[in-house]
Amino acid sequence: MITNIHYFRPNTFDEASALLATTNTRNIAIAGATSWAYNVDINAETLIDLGQLGLDQIEQIGEQIHIGAMVSLQMLVETGQTVADNHPLYLLNLAAHDMAAIGLRHRSTIGGAIISADNASPIVTALLALNAEVLLFSPNSKDQRKTVALAGFLDYHPRLLKDGVIVLGLIVPILNMNTVIHYEKVARTPADYPIVCVASVYAIANNVLANVRIAAGGVAAKPVLLSDLCFALASKPPSQLNISLNPALAVLNPPSNWLGSSDYRRAMVGVLIKRSLK
Ligand SMILES: Cc1cc2nc3c(=O)[nH]c(=O)nc-3n(C[C@H](O)[C@H](O)[C@H](O)COP(=O)(O)OP(=O)(O)OC[C@H]3O[C@@H](n4cnc5c(N)ncnc54)[C@H](O)[C@@H]3O)c2cc1C
Repeated sequence: MITNIHYFRPNTFDEASALLATTNTRNIAIAGATSWAYNVDINAETLIDLGQLGLDQIEQIGEQIHIGAMVSLQMLVETGQTVADNHPLYLLNLAAHDMAAIGLRHRSTIGGAIISADNASPIVTALLALNAEVLLFSPNSKDQRKTVALAGFLDYHPRLLKDGVIVLGLIVPILNMNTVIHYEKVARTPADYPIVCVASVYAIANNVLANVRIAAGGVAAKPVLLSDLCFALASKPPSQLNISLNPALAVLNPPSNWLGSSDYRRAMVGVLIKRSLK
């Protein structure tokens, strides 16, 4: 039952942060509020709407793309349709499109998506392949802004997002001109959310791979970067995959559920990785 919920829409980070930093754990931040709407049993007393903080921009700053936490998944889809197919926003377009149908994409934000990500989240899988960092507003740190690697953020965000810490956005490095990008998935239908998905980013020159980052969703509690495989493929021809793939898959322990058994998921991720490096 929902009763007497207070609503604030602060204009500054300090104000938002102060509202969140109270000892009352029933003060919660909302972005698109879709996960809250999904679960109205959440025992919220005060909702702090982050929509007035100016976090809804995508901009290139030097060799980085800064994506505000309030950028909607639909904005990622639309922006990524206007760039070359070796641009980070191209990959985020494909992944954001797979997150949800258009109505939900208009409301859901990239900040909310990395916090409430499930194990097969396409957007988190893509961001891991892009080597994204999370920019935080941390009121108790000396300079108030700090970045953490996305993989670490996924592991620790319940501990990181306390004492008024707010996600400001994601920072994604620009890719070299000779970069190749792939996004592949297995789903019940082409429009459906993935059972497993793979996002790959690599450079190739003289038939040798470089800067390989392959991430997979649906094979662990959260999407993961397949670090050992990336390391094994560095400075090698793509045919090295024939040697390195099976050991990399063997260490995965995917969950089993009604969408697919553990063995099925492992096998399908192998198929998707082979497609990505063809
Ligand atoms: C029908 C439906 C289907 C869904 N299916 C999926 C699915 O398949 N996979 C999936 O991963 N999710 C799913 N969701 C959950 C959710 O909609 C998405 O994860 C969505 O991307 C969350 O984005 P949001 O902007 O609505 O976040 P919100 O719901 O506003 O927030 C999500 C969480 O992040 C916190 N938060 C948000 N922004 C910030 C910030 N900047 N700083 C600090 N904390 C913040 C909030 O306090 C909250 O805990 C679904 C939701 C619905 C309604």
